[in-house]
Amino acid sequence: MSEGTEQEVDIMFGLKNVLTQIEAAVARRSKDLPQVTPQLVAVSKIKPVPLIIQAYDAGQRHFGENYVNEMAEKSIDPQILDKCKDIKWHFIGHLQTNKINKLLGSPGLYMVETVDSEKLADNLNKQWTKLRKEENKLNVMVQVNTSGEEAKNGVAPAEATKLVEHVLKNCPSLEFNGLMTIGQYDYDVSQGPNPDFLTLAKCRQEVCENLNLDINKVELSMGMSSDFEHAIELGATTVRVGSVIFGARPPKN
Ligand SMILES: *Cc1c(COP(=O)(O)O)cnc(C)c1O
Repeated sequence: MSEGTEQEVDIMFGLKNVLTQIEAAVARRSKDLPQVTPQLVAVSKIKPVPLIIQAYDAGQRHFGENYVNEMAEKSIDPQILDKCKDIKWHFIGHLQTNKINKLLGSPGLYMVETVDSEKLADNLNKQWTKLRKEENKLNVMVQVNTSGEEAKNGVAPAEATKLVEHVLKNCPSLEFNGLMTIGQYDYDVSQGPNPDFLTLAKCRQEVCENLNLDINKVELSMGMSSDFEHAIELGATTVRVGSVIFGARPPKN
């Protein structure tokens, strides 16, 4: 068996497993929560184009990337353009103002999950209007720093309403989709429900009450390889899963 075939089997297997686990977690989810079927975003950062194509061929459409340059390159890769015509890219990394045009120029860009300031929202709104006049609005999520760690991006939970209101009122080219958090890594679930996930769910409740939004239409993007099932039980409607689909990434640095 060639190496390529082995990889293909692995990715199909990984994806199928994750989708089965998602379904099982949905069944365990509290009935008071909006019963939205979670969207799987396959996080392909650092992983090569052929693996993305394999996942696409196995039926996956939503992919997540953290780095603007990497996403921009992958999005214009001739193989991706040729074989993944319906790919939907989610940008899930920190976005600097000077990289906005590069990001927005990426074909297949579907959502920016990491809007964390009015300035970034305004710049995205302005540039999207300029670049993509003829197209639909750009989907965005507001990133919330639920763990309060200084190294994490996102607005404080108490500031979320203000930023969401700003997007709704002042950014006509942006479509507000929901709230996203990363949260602390390696939380031990035996200690009880992950406080970051509870905080994000509560934050949504408040934003919806303050701004009179339908809670069923405001997404919660939370949960990664180690905890996506737990996140779904607590109300995640989007999970961002990388290593259990594509294999472990080399440690940073
Ligand atoms: C890398 C990354 C993920 C996926 O992480 P895994 O542990 O590989 O599933 C999800 N969300 C964000 C923001 C990431 O940077």
